[in-house]
Amino acid sequence: MLSQEEQSIIARGRVEVYHPLQHDQVTEFGPAFPTDASIKAPTSLLAPARDDLIDRKCLVLDLDETLVHSSFKYLPQADFVIPVEIEGQYHNVYVIKRPGVDDFLKRVGDLYEIVVFTASVSKYGDPLLDQLDVHQVVHHRLFRESCYNHQGNYVKDLSQLGRPLENIIILDNSPASYIFHPEHALPISSWFSDTHDNELLDIIPFLEDLASEDLKDVSLVLDVAIPKYTTMKVAQDAMAYTSI
Ligand SMILES: [Mg+2]
Repeated sequence: MLSQEEQSIIARGRVEVYHPLQHDQVTEFGPAFPTDASIKAPTSLLAPARDDLIDRKCLVLDLDETLVHSSFKYLPQADFVIPVEIEGQYHNVYVIKRPGVDDFLKRVGDLYEIVVFTASVSKYGDPLLDQLDVHQVVHHRLFRESCYNHQGNYVKDLSQLGRPLENIIILDNSPASYIFHPEHALPISSWFSDTHDNELLDIIPFLEDLASEDLKDVSLVLDVAIPKYTTMKVAQDAMAYTSI
């Protein structure tokens, strides 16, 4: 039986205080990744863009509750089962895909440089992406150690990616993830199991528009357009986060 701390290899948005899985990342003074008081790394999180992608905008995709839902509990409808080693023992993580995710990734992969940026750990996220990315459209993978610990949240600091900020869009179910750059965010509701969910496919036309080379700064459109795309569920999620 896994403790709640051990299950935190799958991110749910908050930084855990301490658990055995983070032994290799933790000093006696706390997490090794940057904190509010530490100096940011001078290098970019991403390698330079490939020549054939250099003119594309950059779409940052969250993983858990945005593209998939995962659980240590047995899920009979699981699309994948990922064995994850924890303290010498393997445990199965059951993964279900959000409806439309394959078509979504294929389409956005034609339009953008794609980054999957997750607050989960790589020993879970890497093998999951190996199976999820059937069309091989994900150009970069970033995991927990690339997040910024801001007041107990894993924040994805878009200014550290090494791409022009005006070209970056983040799609994430957790508003805390993009708290530094809300004007670059495309919110999406948290997905767990609803087989009738259609949000990934619904936002494709909007992402097609944002990819246009005529648009020089995505934040100008996202700031104005988002209320139209914000469902009641997203608003409720946002309110739940701000009340923590
Ligand atoms: Mg998420």
